[in-house]
Amino acid sequence: MIRAGFGGRSAGGSPVGVLQRSRQVFRFLNWTLQIDLEPDRPPRMHRYRCLGESEDGTPCGAEGPESGDFATAQKWVAHHLRSEQDHRSYEHVTCTPWVVVPAEEP
Ligand SMILES: [Zn+2]
Repeated sequence: MIRAGFGGRSAGGSPVGVLQRSRQVFRFLNWTLQIDLEPDRPPRMHRYRCLGESEDGTPCGAEGPESGDFATAQKWVAHHLRSEQDHRSYEHVTCTPWVVVPAEEP
């Protein structure tokens, strides 16, 4: 849970302009950080990165293309292994959409 201030109104209740100096009233709200499960969320993305090394110890670092399809991302590993048969360690890099949701709407 995240606790953060939310404001934007002057003490008198009128909206505050960006350049106007004013005393602000902030309300502290409880927020929850969670995985975005809404139907219109951005897709979860997958990518593989090679952790293999060349004979002199230089890290390979080659990366496959980012894909919203897990199986498509995995195909790059087989493709890379064809040219670099000693590179057998990889990391799976994902990008997952998350959102923060207030306990109550401000
Ligand atoms: Zn490699």
